Amino acid sequence: MPFHSRPAAFVRRIRFKWDMLAVLWFILGVFASRPGACAVAVSRLERFEYSQAAMGVRARMVVYAPNRASAESACKRAFARIARLEDVMSDYRPTSELMRLCAKAGGPAVKVSRDLLKVLLKAQEISRLSDGAFDVTVGPLVKLWREARATRKMPDESRLCSARELVGWRKLEIDAKNATVRLKYPGMLLDLGGIAKGYACDEALRTLKRCGINRALIEMGGDIALGDPPPGKKGWLVQIPAAQADERCSQLANCGVSTSGDAEQFVEINGRRYSHIVDPRTGLGLTHRAEVTVIAPDCTTSDCLATAASVLGPEKAAQWMRRYFPRVRLYVRPAADG
Ligand code: ADP
Ligand code: MG
Repeated sequence: MPFHSRPAAFVRRIRFKWDMLAVLWFILGVFASRPGACAVAVSRLERFEYSQAAMGVRARMVVYAPNRASAESACKRAFARIARLEDVMSDYRPTSELMRLCAKAGGPAVKVSRDLLKVLLKAQEISRLSDGAFDVTVGPLVKLWREARATRKMPDESRLCSARELVGWRKLEIDAKNATVRLKYPGMLLDLGGIAKGYACDEALRTLKRCGINRALIEMGGDIALGDPPPGKKGWLVQIPAAQADERCSQLANCGVSTSGDAEQFVEINGRRYSHIVDPRTGLGLTHRAEVTVIAPDCTTSDCLATAASVLGPEKAAQWMRRYFPRVRLYVRPAADG
C-alpha cells in the first residue's frame, strides 16, 4: 500500500486545513453578525461634501467614507463620469455626441454610444406610455421658446407650425440590437433636458458604489439620486414641498427624487406665463402651473416622469401614474404666483 499512503496523508492534511478554515469562517461570521460589529465599521465613516458646475447646474455629492482620501478620489471619478456624460448629451455643445447625431437628421442610421442608446430607449418608453407628453424630439420647439425667453415675444405662428411638424417620438427610430439611431427628417433636434440630469445622477452614484461608497447622495438641480442612508439613519432627509405636511420632510434611500416646474425657467408674454416645459402636442410652453415631485426607484425614471407629469397636468398625471407606475410616488401642488 505504500503507493496509496502518501496521497492519503496529503488528502487528510488538505481536509484538516479546510476544516480549520471552516471553523475560522464560522467564528468570524458569529462576530461580524453581532449588532455591535457592524456599528463599529459604520461609525468610522465620515461625511464629506463636494460640488462642481455640470450640465448647467451645480452638481453636489454627499458621501460617507472611511477617510478624506477615499471620498475625494471616488467623488473625482463620479464628477468625471458626469463630465463625460455632458460630452455625450449636451444640446449646448455643437460637438456633443447628441448634436453630431442631430446634424445627420434625415440621413441614414448612426451608431451611438451605450449611454446615448440607454437614455434614448428609456425616453422612447416613457413617450410611448405617456402618448407623447414626454418627448425628446421636442428640440425644435424648445429652441423657439428659448428665443421667446430672450426676446419676450411669442414665437411666430408659422415657425411654431414648422417646428411642430418635426416633433414626434415616432420620427425617432432606434435599433437597440445594432445600437443605431435615425432621425427621420432633416431639421429634427433632440433635447435631453428632461432626462439627462437624472441619468447623470444615477451614473455618478454607480461610480461611487464601484469605489466602495454606498452611502451617498447626488443632486443636480431638481434631481436627486440616493444610495444607502447615512450611518445610523433610516434615510436621507429630503424636503418635498408639494407633499402633505406629514410627508414634507421624508427619510428616503435607494431611489430617485425629481422636481419639475416653472419656478425658475419661464417667459411671461402678454400677462401669461409659459414654462420651459413644452407640450409637444400643442407646441406651447405649459401654462398650467404646478410643482411636481416624483419619487421612483431610480433618478432617470423620476426625472422623465416629473417632466411627463408636468405636461399631463395634475389630474391626468395621477391617473396615468397609478396605471403605469403604481409604485412611483407623485406629489403635485399648484405653483404660487409670482
Ligand atoms: P429641469 O430641466 O428644470 O430640471 P425638467 O427635468 O422638467 O426640468 O426638464 C425640462 C427640460 O426638458 C426643458 O428645459 C427641455 O430641455 C426639455 N423638455 C421640455 N419639454 C419637454 C417634453 N415635453 N418632453 C421631454 N423633454 C422636454
Ligand atoms: Mg425632468
